[in-house]
Amino acid sequence: MTKRLSRRKFLHATVSLSAGLPLLARLKAAPPPVRPAQGNFPVRAIASANGLKAVQLAYGRIAKGTDPLAAVVAAVNILEDDPDDLSVGYGGLPNEDGVVELDAAVMDGPSHRAGAVAALRNIKNPSQVAKLVMETTDHVLLVGEGALRFARANGFKEQELLTQKARKIWLYWKQSLSEKDDWFTPPDDDLDPDVAKFFGRPTGTIHCAGMNRDGDLACVTTTSGLSFKIPGRVGDSPIIGAGLYVDNELGSCGSTGRGEANLQDLCSFAAVELMRGGLSPKDAGLEVLRRVSRHTTDPRLLNDQGRPNFGLKFYLLGKSGDYAGVSLWGPAQFAVADRKGARLEDCALLHSGDN
Ligand code: ASP
Repeated sequence: MTKRLSRRKFLHATVSLSAGLPLLARLKAAPPPVRPAQGNFPVRAIASANGLKAVQLAYGRIAKGTDPLAAVVAAVNILEDDPDDLSVGYGGLPNEDGVVELDAAVMDGPSHRAGAVAALRNIKNPSQVAKLVMETTDHVLLVGEGALRFARANGFKEQELLTQKARKIWLYWKQSLSEKDDWFTPPDDDLDPDVAKFFGRPTGTIHCAGMNRDGDLACVTTTSGLSFKIPGRVGDSPIIGAGLYVDNELGSCGSTGRGEANLQDLCSFAAVELMRGGLSPKDAGLEVLRRVSRHTTDPRLLNDQGRPNFGLKFYLLGKSGDYAGVSLWGPAQFAVADRKGARLEDCALLHSGDN
């Protein structure tokens, strides 16, 4: 028997559908970002503030014709290789057991493909492994032992990633954790200078994105994640849509800061989609920070004014030539390189002042 829609039901269905229309209509009606002609896009690289050398390298290579993905991965390798950077690659702060576990992801605009590794041990360049996941497998994310075996199979050398400096900071954290265990808390007035600088739970990560003359984008995020985390904890950095995202038609976004807050809003994806709706990189970034702020209700995570008490930043590179760094709190900067040179610029802030 053919089911026919009565006129009454038809009208009802039409009304229900049109109730959802204003938002769609608004998104559709948003003016498309104005874009330069192919070949005329402004070559540019942006990164978190720890990436000044990285953007310089990425920009230089992209300007000379290197593929943006290869360029941004080479750029973050500078920090992954640096023993003095305590938040990325070799020398990163370890998990609560004293073992360094790294997260990284890459995303390529033209192919819209991504690759990632999480909780990877013993390999200092997780960004390179993530790139190979993307280029040589049908998968997007490999974790833990599987990621390590994949890296080994590809000839990566295993090494101890815990430096003496990171070990001392971790040991101090362990010794001063609790009065109820058998560790003696070291006296404050006799602290190793390496340790004295790192009270609390330091965080850090590098995100780097680049665009070439043809408007092709790529980005990477790499980190040792939250220091002293529970083994196996995966942050936002290797999660596509959270730690980074690119839509070659629109732009890219990547993050540093409290991964758990970002994961619950998939902010990088959301920000790029807001750019599709016509928002500038800066306004899209501030809007996702506003969402994070609104969704933060756990009293543990709020300051005395009821605002998030943690840090979170996004770095946005728009295809139309705009770019921005945005932060929940200031002061905050990000790195950018283009034909005006490599420099640090101020992030736009959701809340003024320090958290
Ligand atoms: N977003 C990183 C994570 O949560 C840490 C950071 O950027 O500080 O693992």
